[in-house]
Amino acid sequence: MKACITLLPGDGIGPEVTAEAVRCLQHVARKFNHEFEMQSAAIGGAAIDAEGDPLPAATIAACHKADALLLGAIGGPKWSDPDARVRPEQGLLRLRREFDFYANLRPVAPHPALLDASPLKAHLLAGVDIMVVRELTGGIYFGEKTRTAEHATDLCAYSATEIERIIRVAGRLARARRHRIVSVDKANVLETSRLWRTVTERVLTAEFPDVSLEHMLVDAAAMHLLRRPADFDVMVTENMFGDILTDEASMLAGSMGLLPSASLGDDRKGLYEPIHGSAPDIAGKGIANPYAAILSAAMLLRHSLQLEEEAVALETAVARAIDQGVRTPDIATAEHAPVSTRAAADAVLQEI
Ligand code: NAD
Repeated sequence: MKACITLLPGDGIGPEVTAEAVRCLQHVARKFNHEFEMQSAAIGGAAIDAEGDPLPAATIAACHKADALLLGAIGGPKWSDPDARVRPEQGLLRLRREFDFYANLRPVAPHPALLDASPLKAHLLAGVDIMVVRELTGGIYFGEKTRTAEHATDLCAYSATEIERIIRVAGRLARARRHRIVSVDKANVLETSRLWRTVTERVLTAEFPDVSLEHMLVDAAAMHLLRRPADFDVMVTENMFGDILTDEASMLAGSMGLLPSASLGDDRKGLYEPIHGSAPDIAGKGIANPYAAILSAAMLLRHSLQLEEEAVALETAVARAIDQGVRTPDIATAEHAPVSTRAAADAVLQEI
């Protein structure tokens, strides 16, 4: 097949890990006889430096033309003045809004060989396989904001329609997995959460009677994720709770450098990115873990290009590289000496 992918390398380690994901995609294309046309566009701090805008019009145009978008990471100390008028994150938030990427999927399934890389005890991690579904375009991040010298507000708002569509995404995913959903909210305190609970029950009862539902308060969910992570199948939640819980869940896998994500709307176009940030502390050193970016490319193959076999080939190649002990410093141990970003990606290429 022919497909057009827009690359948004961004800042810090973003360009380093994206370059390796691109090499893997090119290799998959050669192996499976596809043609991926890939074109880079500016976003985040790099775009602020170049054009004064974290999401320039040319980038939006390139994204409109593409079948899928592959992002590295954005941000860094250079652009983090709290009083700055233009910030790298605005580029990403606007991109999600522009394409209505309302469903953020973050699979968390620790590799058996890496259980020692997690701060959790290995026996708690056996069998962990969670799909976190985070609502991405509503809630407190997008509500009205006010600020004076002495007072500030952020409005959290959700409509039933916004809740219905994300619950349907979770329902469809649960059906292809273990048929269990935990919906996370704060219904004892927040009106938005009470609406979330009512709508979730309505949609799942009517449209997904074969899927079981458990409501969980966000504070309890934060605790159960550490106490009994293997009990979760699909976890669905609103924007801010999802942001926090997915970072917590990432530690089950051992490193931020291991987890991919997909942000999807109602059509096939999607935005794929590792869950980590631009890691300014290691940027430019050639030691960032490229596995999360490569696994994000695998999600791109699966969800936007419908190339399941190719996606599995890439995921299997990463798993085999890890099996062989090919580890960047974030997951290296005395037994497995650290390798560079490039060497880790080379090992994946060998295995595709
Ligand atoms: P971060 O994810 O960049 O880094 C947290 C820690 O994890 C650091 O010690 C870093 O070295 C390590 N790490 C992250 N990715 C790694 C990888 N692939 N390999 C090895 N180690 C890795 O989070 P942060 O330090 O809180 O944020 C840094 C910048 O990134 C900030 O400007 C923040 O706003 C931005 N950020 C961007 C995104 C995004 O682009 N979607 C997400 C989160 C943070």
